[in-house]
Amino acid sequence: MDDEAFVFAEDALSGEPRKEARWTVLSVEDDDTYQASLMHSLRGLDFRGLPVRLLTASSAAEAAAVLSSDDDIGLILLDVVMEEDDAGLRLVQSVREVLGNPVVRIVLLTGQPGMAPRTDVMQQYDIDEYWNKADLTREKLHAVVRSHLRTWHYMMELQRARKSLQMIIDASRSLYSKQNLTEFTQSLLNDIGLLIGVDGGGIVCSALAGSSTSPQRNVIAASGRYQQLLTTDLSDQIFARFADTLAQAEKTREHQFAQDHTVLYFETASIDGSCYLVLIDSNTMLTEGHIRMLQVFSENIRTGFANVALLNRVSQLAYYDEKLNIINRNGLSREISNMNAAERSSSGLLLVKIRKYTDMMITFGERYCDYLLLRFCDVIAEAFSAVQNCASIGDGNFVLIFDQNKMPADDYLRQQSEQMLEMSGVVHHLLLTFCKVDLGPLQDLPAQEILHLAESALSAAEMQNLPLIDYADGYRHRITSSFLLLQELQQALLNNELCLMFQPKVDLESGRALGFEALVRWPREDGSMVPPDKFIPLAEASGLISSLDEQVFHMTVDAVNELCGAGYELPVSFNTTVSDLRNRSFTQMIMNTVTSGRIDAALLDIEITESEAMADYSGHYDLLKQFIDLGMGVSIDDFGTGYSSLSHIARLAATTLKIDQSFVNGLGQSEDDLHVVQMICRIGKRFNFRIVAEGIETEEQCQLLRRAGCHVGQGYLFARPMKLPDAMEWLRKQA
Ligand code: C2E
Ligand code: CA
Ligand code: CA
Repeated sequence: MDDEAFVFAEDALSGEPRKEARWTVLSVEDDDTYQASLMHSLRGLDFRGLPVRLLTASSAAEAAAVLSSDDDIGLILLDVVMEEDDAGLRLVQSVREVLGNPVVRIVLLTGQPGMAPRTDVMQQYDIDEYWNKADLTREKLHAVVRSHLRTWHYMMELQRARKSLQMIIDASRSLYSKQNLTEFTQSLLNDIGLLIGVDGGGIVCSALAGSSTSPQRNVIAASGRYQQLLTTDLSDQIFARFADTLAQAEKTREHQFAQDHTVLYFETASIDGSCYLVLIDSNTMLTEGHIRMLQVFSENIRTGFANVALLNRVSQLAYYDEKLNIINRNGLSREISNMNAAERSSSGLLLVKIRKYTDMMITFGERYCDYLLLRFCDVIAEAFSAVQNCASIGDGNFVLIFDQNKMPADDYLRQQSEQMLEMSGVVHHLLLTFCKVDLGPLQDLPAQEILHLAESALSAAEMQNLPLIDYADGYRHRITSSFLLLQELQQALLNNELCLMFQPKVDLESGRALGFEALVRWPREDGSMVPPDKFIPLAEASGLISSLDEQVFHMTVDAVNELCGAGYELPVSFNTTVSDLRNRSFTQMIMNTVTSGRIDAALLDIEITESEAMADYSGHYDLLKQFIDLGMGVSIDDFGTGYSSLSHIARLAATTLKIDQSFVNGLGQSEDDLHVVQMICRIGKRFNFRIVAEGIETEEQCQLLRRAGCHVGQGYLFARPMKLPDAMEWLRKQA
């Protein structure tokens, strides 16, 4: 037996009053005279202050009947030889094996000395003693009976203790598996009911809330006669007679055991500040054993409450935005994942983006923006009262869940896309972008993916300054196909499959070649070429751009050297993006190539678009200046579209401005475009930049450009981008 069970048995149940306040001894004897004298000797015997009741049977068969109807018998005095020689021993066997009673004590008596049973039989059936009737004096008999009743009592208590221990263990096991408070408390009431039995009574569990002056004790679980009272409060009239005990438990923060009811007190204050009262209306007085059992079980309940509180705390952290007090991205994903097909078909999402939120974060700081978001939540609640749930998914983006029928109309959304938010007396002007998502067609998509796709649509809309975008199913296909394309691009880069086309830059007066621009191409197996605007944005978004442009750079260097080898010392420009310039290993690689002397710096020209160069003007200035100092050319691509400030243009680290093709395109049709071209040419003259016009397709455009003072250009009028051998052939023909 294990020590704990023993300690528990002693501790918890030694004072247990027995079912009936008496001891019972059964004498089985076929000799009536001896039976009578035995009865006589035992009459009036008591043990530990309780009387000893005597039952008799005159045959093994009669004894078996008594034993099976009375489970309170502690000792059997058994005559060994009765109807048959072994009748007594067979009775022992059926007590132990058939009735399955291992506890009742058995003392064998015999009238014939020398008829002692074998020791192995005594051991097998747990028979305690063997007495010769003649030796059993009245005193001895009393001593024997008392000692065996003591043993029996002890064994009974042990058995009961083991049972309750098992019940507690079983109950605790099921408690620990409950993760939400309602389920946990309900199961805890059931277990208490099973452990102590509350016939006619009932149990309620209530959570304490509110202030100390007006405390609320909401019932969160109830059983037995209180089962119907789930919505009430412990202040209800029906609980009036327990008021004192309840108050005492709350005051002392300890369990209270009263006459016919008990109040258990639990708190998880350190985790979530909660307290719980469990009122057990047991209807009758609890035995001391029950009380001990409740105390032991309470330890498990305490751990259970703590587990549930911890789990809730963890979910709170995982699924809630604590600052805004609404669900976060994880919470939203869970919400969407939990929707069944019917719910998805009838629901829609409305994504709301605060435009330029990241800029605000940089300008105003986190605390201000937290406050702004909090205020913004009020705005949302007011503007969209039909919303079912609202989530904050980060970066000033929110997602509202709507019943599809209640999704706000487009006009309303456009109207709501400008918000004035008053904060500490300052009016903040917010521009919003909305994206509507119908969840119906997206049944099979995981929640995270839906959100991801919708956010991409939202960002695309923000970039185009749109107040509203409807997330079309087609968008998903576009993204999926982009994803496939990206995988192929990755492979193409690994296999060095990309190649360059070269487009000449020519002197607009003479048509003479002055250099080339290298433009990347991705040849497919079928001989077609993927144009760069299909994969450059993809490469940029996925971080592949630098390795792509590194390959382009090396191919450019090779091309320059090949051209030189053929006697054409012409500069070749290559295109870069802002992420290239931010990538130190990329820029370092260019510098190393130039300084190592593998190429004449003057034959390299780096192109960066105006908008990208200006996005981080001071960050790029030093770098571009370094390229110029090394002798390279720096061209500002698509010039005229990037809104350079005039003060920056004066100090621009560049050698060339390339007039964007959109202006060239408009020449001859739009006066405005002509003015822009003329202005760029004047800037070039004033600040000493070379001017190159791109996208020249007609003789008229060429003439107007020349007249405006632009003397270098590229475009289909002169040549399309060509493979290097074709470009060399073109050069040869020129000469
Ligand atoms: P971009 O640098 O402005 O290149 C000029 C684009 O105009 C090229 O398109 C060229 O083929 C096209 N073009 C040239 N002449 C004419 C003309 O007379 N009419 C018209 N309509 N178009 C003309 P392409 O090659 O498709 O390149 C598109 C853009 O892709 C480039 O614009 C550039 O921003 C980017 N790109 C090309 N190669 C690379 C590269 O190696 N790295 C990076 N990062 N971007 C590149
Ligand atoms: Ca270019
Ligand atoms: Ca361009």
